[in-house]
Amino acid sequence: MPPIHSHGCVCEAAGGLLPDSAFKDFAKYVDRPPTLRLRGGAKTREPDATKVKTIVRGARIWTADATNPRADAIAISETGRILAVGSEASVKAVPNADEAQVVDLTGRTILPGFVEPHMHPTFGAVVLNQFLDVYPFTVKNVEDVLDRLRAKCEEMDQAGRPNSDWVWAFGYDQALTPPCRPLLVEDLDSISSTRPIFIISNTVHTGYANSAAFAAASVTHTTPSVPGGGEFLKTASGSLSGVVVESALGVFTAHQPKLGPEEYSQALLEFLRRASRKGVTTVVDAALRLDEPSDDDALGGMVGAYLHLASADLLPTRVSLSPTSPYLTQATALARKIGRQRAPGDVVYLTESSDMVSIHAIKFVLDGTNQTMTAAQTQPYLNGDGGNKGDMNYPNTEKLLETVKKVKDVGFSAMFHANGDGALDQAIEVYDKIFGKPAPEDLFSGKGFRGRIEHCTITREEQIPRLKELNVIPSFLMQHLLYWGSRYRDVSLGPARAARMDPAGDCVKHGMPWSMHCDMPVTPVQPLQYVTTAVTRTNYYDGKIIGSEQCVSVEEALKSITIHAAIQSGFGDVCGSLSVGKSADLVVLDESPLDVEPSKIKDIIIEETWIAGKRMMHLM
Ligand SMILES: [Zn+2]
Ligand SMILES: [Zn+2]
Repeated sequence: MPPIHSHGCVCEAAGGLLPDSAFKDFAKYVDRPPTLRLRGGAKTREPDATKVKTIVRGARIWTADATNPRADAIAISETGRILAVGSEASVKAVPNADEAQVVDLTGRTILPGFVEPHMHPTFGAVVLNQFLDVYPFTVKNVEDVLDRLRAKCEEMDQAGRPNSDWVWAFGYDQALTPPCRPLLVEDLDSISSTRPIFIISNTVHTGYANSAAFAAASVTHTTPSVPGGGEFLKTASGSLSGVVVESALGVFTAHQPKLGPEEYSQALLEFLRRASRKGVTTVVDAALRLDEPSDDDALGGMVGAYLHLASADLLPTRVSLSPTSPYLTQATALARKIGRQRAPGDVVYLTESSDMVSIHAIKFVLDGTNQTMTAAQTQPYLNGDGGNKGDMNYPNTEKLLETVKKVKDVGFSAMFHANGDGALDQAIEVYDKIFGKPAPEDLFSGKGFRGRIEHCTITREEQIPRLKELNVIPSFLMQHLLYWGSRYRDVSLGPARAARMDPAGDCVKHGMPWSMHCDMPVTPVQPLQYVTTAVTRTNYYDGKIIGSEQCVSVEEALKSITIHAAIQSGFGDVCGSLSVGKSADLVVLDESPLDVEPSKIKDIIIEETWIAGKRMMHLM
């Protein structure tokens, strides 16, 4: 089992937490690709792509389609495609309209279903299912964190759970939780001296253990460092401080009980439902681990989990998977065995009769995070040891070029995690050398090889038009600004660089698409909150505006969570806008984001999502 390696986002962290033997019956999917049953019960004939099944009327519809931006009715075919969208009279002019089921959504607002282009369901499912929540956004201070841990311990004691059962928690942030200090061994020993307690920080770079956890993991003050940057930090007197970093986390997470395949499947489903309840209809799993690179037979336990949910007709969102670069061989084998791809660089669909599960881009993590000052910058961080510019994960660009060339040769797109402007320079060089100069009209076509930058937090102004020239679309973790923006401004990066963080305004100025994501479990999924933040650029903690010149209009922000995120993820022809021929993927809201105060957009109630013309019932 690989130790947790967490250099970057949670992308590489999934290793130790997942079931070893999950979905070993994956072979049955390889031999016989699962065929999705149609929702809505037994059918006596094949659905007809030209025959109207449902007409939605009465709503105020924003389509994200510039050629037809507003409408009040939609006609949907038996196959879930949009046959007409426009005025009620024009929609009711489709053939056989009088036989259609009419759904009256008077007073509601309909938008295209939200596309969440970067989150971590396969890792986050375990975290949200098994770990106590101590996120900085949900706790008041360190005392509050300790109270939650104490309550959990008491609950386990009362339930008669043996002392060998650990307390696991996730999300602590020592830079944001007052009084902004690490959790120490004496804090955690005051809760229990007998039951192991282990907390993972929200960046997955740091962990906090009590004495019982150190004992259970056989770690003492003389235990050596762990390869991969793992350290058990000591006090001035040489004793264990309680804080552990990087690969040392794996020493503790090895004790995490494994979920069985059914439990894991259920946890994954719950994770996707969280996104669905926030209006999301398409999710990109931005770091998929397939299986050990040496193991040719056992293809992808996690892919198996997704296909299992798809074949049971349970997926509440479309899912597109991005295997991390060590799993290129497995991803290629999987795509060749069960995939359907229209053209090189396009999405590869893994289910025979639907477009619910696919693979698209191979993920590379070029640097770390700004929260931990490991994002690779061209100028040093302001605090910490003088001259620290963060870390490049691929100091040898030639080697990176070689690997990315292989990705292109087998027909996958590539996506680069780059939080600092130094890492972004490297990403631009690689796209330029490997993918060359693409046709400008393909920037908005959603076809072929798609370049994308994950996070793209700190940039220089001249890098934005370079991305446009290369048809590379950035995705901003806009909640970096919401939650950490004031720290970047006041502590690590200074006002000038913080003002340019997540430069959506520059992208609009240059006429190029961009998207927004949450990186859950790093921050919570809440697309309407990203819209509020992109429009107002207001920090959660001090209420101050960070970089007003990068504010965008509500409409541009809505495009970034719908059509532009769909194009970026290779789904531009399937969803992202309510256009004739596309799938009827939509979200129903109780108010229009275009009518309320931008600061209130985040509070709009999400009533339903639909995928391919079907209501996702768990929202009802
Ligand atoms: Zn990520
Ligand atoms: Zn990342």
